Amino acid sequence: MDVTTRLGENLARVGDRIAAAAHRSGRQRSDVALVAVTKYVDANIVPHLVAAGCTDLGESRPQELWSKAESFTDVPIRWHLVGHLQRNKVDRTLPFVSLIHSVDSLRLAHAIDKSVAGQNRSIPALLEVNISGDRSKHGFAPTEIQPLLPQLATLDRLEIRGLMCMASPEGDLEAARRQFAALHQLRDHLRAVAPQKVELTELSMGMSGDFEIAIEEGATIVRIGSALFEGIIG
Ligand SMILES: *Cc1c(COP(=O)(O)O)cnc(C)c1O
Repeated sequence: MDVTTRLGENLARVGDRIAAAAHRSGRQRSDVALVAVTKYVDANIVPHLVAAGCTDLGESRPQELWSKAESFTDVPIRWHLVGHLQRNKVDRTLPFVSLIHSVDSLRLAHAIDKSVAGQNRSIPALLEVNISGDRSKHGFAPTEIQPLLPQLATLDRLEIRGLMCMASPEGDLEAARRQFAALHQLRDHLRAVAPQKVELTELSMGMSGDFEIAIEEGATIVRIGSALFEGIIG
């Protein structure tokens, strides 16, 4: 089976699962955005994704994002950075990116704000929350964010749109559900107390192994890699 056919099937299957989970949470398919995470596949898969109508693409490593984005500057792709961004890579990365999911420190937030001000634009971003408390994970501790809201609101060019998390440990779906519910609750709490400038509409949560649970718990964006590329190499 060729790549286009297989990818089309995978996308259709994932789309159906997103729709079913959205309905279970009283929402529509169109209420949940799909970011196709391309980190496991070569750049040559990108045109196939775009042809299939999938134009929100994500990478977790900045260098990989530069490399893929630079190969397809003439294609209308919205790139999402879903992994850790070191401050020394901010200037190089931001020109390619439509949404940063992984703002994980106040220092990074400042660096991003300064960088995009220099490019005379603004950028939407999500705050990554270490909701599982796993030491190996990046992100703000859940209790860390509220005291930072006034400072975050002073950053003119960084538009905070919501929260992002990864569930842990992988494969423990009950833990994942508790963590997604906790992120949703935290978002609701922060939204009630945040300055108007800090908008918290988005919840980026859910990957191949747990996206249906994430949607049931209120995800507005899911980040899916391996489930889209089953049976596809390269
Ligand atoms: C790799 C990655 C994903 C996608 O993972 P899959 O399990 O392959 O769907 C989502 N989010 C982040 C932050 C990732 O690094």
